[in-house]
Amino acid sequence: MCGIVGYIGKNDALQILIGGLKKLEYRGYDSSGVALIEDGKIETVRASGKIAALEDKLKSKPLHGHVGIAHTRWATHGAPTEQNAHPHQSFDGNISIVHNGIIENYAILKKKLQSEGIEFKSETDTEVVAHLIARYYNGNLKEAVLKAISKIEGTFGLAVICKSEPDTLIGARRGSPLILGIGQDEFYLASDVSAIIMHTQKVVYLDDNDIVEIKEDGYNLLNTHSQSVQHEVQDVEFDADAIAKGGFAHFMLKEIFEQPEVLRNTMRGRLLYAEGNAKLAGLDTNIKELRNINRIIITACGTSYYAGMVGEYMIEDLAGVPVEVEYASEFRYRNPIIKPGTLV
Ligand code: GLU
Repeated sequence: MCGIVGYIGKNDALQILIGGLKKLEYRGYDSSGVALIEDGKIETVRASGKIAALEDKLKSKPLHGHVGIAHTRWATHGAPTEQNAHPHQSFDGNISIVHNGIIENYAILKKKLQSEGIEFKSETDTEVVAHLIARYYNGNLKEAVLKAISKIEGTFGLAVICKSEPDTLIGARRGSPLILGIGQDEFYLASDVSAIIMHTQKVVYLDDNDIVEIKEDGYNLLNTHSQSVQHEVQDVEFDADAIAKGGFAHFMLKEIFEQPEVLRNTMRGRLLYAEGNAKLAGLDTNIKELRNINRIIITACGTSYYAGMVGEYMIEDLAGVPVEVEYASEFRYRNPIIKPGTLV
């Protein structure tokens, strides 16, 4: 699963953002990245793979600043490469964004922006949002974000920074979670409270279609009609062990009770409802390839192996495609028969 962290305040943003990403690491991701406002410019560093790879890159290019955004990506559109990793920047270099979720109408928006001469640098659905905000930017970042999200269909948790407004951080959500953390003259954005709990216990949970404009001295919560909305500031308990075990006596017990939540989280931002049908977005880009699959091999270890076996029954039952589940640790030493049409 993917994650977002944002920071604005008096402290060094980079440490806070990387620290936050590390707390989200358990969720699984394929690449990560960070962007900061440094000396009036947006500086970005991205890497595929683990956060350690991002940290390695940052050693040779350390970033300094007090406003920034960071992301761990779980790719839906485009391979898990550095080029596709977030943050994504707008054509004019003015806007930088991180995004969780799926922009359903990105292909139409992309075509239109390309016809206006905008060159795309990634294969992601996200990049259209950066360009859209830049297109609408007219001296007011919040207004530009509001306009851009009025054009978007799909799900998003967004964090946005802007070169022309170096003292502003914007967050917005629809279908993907986003939390505002409130510190002493500093604020945080995160997709999960665990990314910021070591800095503040005061949080505001954004609702769908909320947008928050944050400056170092305060924040402004709005709905998509630019009307002010109020949400209670909540106190979250800081007890690392309790958070980890969630109040249960044992991790195993916790994980058993967590199953409905885990299923919801797995599908969050991925399940869109169109004409009464559930649609797992992101797959339809390869629909032709999917139709040609005549055999499926699931490789897994441990509990994932058992999950794979459930998958075997379900896929065979629903799709009528033969499935085999293989121990991943053995599979790599074999010479498996994989022909065109086999999906691993
Ligand atoms: N759809 C976006 C992408 O593929 C965001 C994925 C995510 O939620 O991490 O880059």
